[in-house]
Amino acid sequence: MKSGFVSIIGRPNVGKSTLLNNLLNKKVSIVSSKPATTRLKILGILTEERGQIIFVDTPGFEKPKNELGKFMLKTIFSSIDETDLILFLIEAKGWQEEDEEILNTLKKYNKKTILIINKVDLISEKTLLLPLIDESQKKFSFLEIIPVSALKDKNFTNLIDAIFSYLPDNLNYNNKSFNEAELFFPKEASTNLSQEYIFAEIIREKVLQKTYDEIPHTVAVEVEEIKPGGKNKEMVVIKANIILERENIKSILIGKDGNKIKEIGKEARQEIEILVGRKVYLDLWVKVIEDWRNRPDIFRKFGYGNI
Ligand code: GDP
Ligand code: MG
Repeated sequence: MKSGFVSIIGRPNVGKSTLLNNLLNKKVSIVSSKPATTRLKILGILTEERGQIIFVDTPGFEKPKNELGKFMLKTIFSSIDETDLILFLIEAKGWQEEDEEILNTLKKYNKKTILIINKVDLISEKTLLLPLIDESQKKFSFLEIIPVSALKDKNFTNLIDAIFSYLPDNLNYNNKSFNEAELFFPKEASTNLSQEYIFAEIIREKVLQKTYDEIPHTVAVEVEEIKPGGKNKEMVVIKANIILERENIKSILIGKDGNKIKEIGKEARQEIEILVGRKVYLDLWVKVIEDWRNRPDIFRKFGYGNI
């Protein structure tokens, strides 16, 4: 299995959004947050049998207009360090000054980079691309140079193959079969999964990890509310309920002096913070709903409508 974080970089209008949307077949991105200090803002996820590509946003490749801008640029660039691969876009009409500037910044990071020459539909002859490819090869040791039309192409197999080939092989080398446990996100994540569902899954995973086999897999998590919070609405407040089937397992989940539930909350919160790129206040409650798994009215509410 291969999976990793990929950022799409290029000057405005070069076709980044178009490419991303078409790679993901117009499926919506799962989490969108607009904080200035984004670490890894996730734009979309592409999952296949062979693994998972997580496209992240790394804004800030425009020139900073003031000191605050410069400061923010620093924070934003730090997110580059956390990505596995960069897709750098230019247009088929050739290198522009702004492209060169971005490349100069990129060079400092020395990250694995694929150059994408976009909008090839706008040039009359494919042979005209050859000198551009030559010129590009001299500028930087791009892993590959791939011409596309983000707008017109129907299939991006070449590009997707290339991306997968440079992503890290994670965890389990021996197990060649599809193993969802090795993915960063559930395999459905590139669809229009709600934030509620994703946050609930993170919390549920922590519950199961922290309670091992003491708590059977009959725990559901319901995210009741997601809203901005904090003085300047800079935080995300998430109210969630952990739903148990029976009263007698409640004490296992809560732990001595509430230690277990605190750990669960802390770990889930940290993971969600990475996802949304902001501070999170996780308001976690434990509820007992007798026999919830046999009650469609209840489990549908928890997002298990299809089982
Ligand atoms: P971004 O600013 O880099 O995200 O660029 P966008 O994806 O918003 O694209 C900017 C403009 O270029 C839009 O009008 C797109 O329709 C157009 N565009 C993007 N890719 C292509 C392409 O492959 N061919 C053509 N002809 N136009 C494209
Ligand atoms: Mg865009």
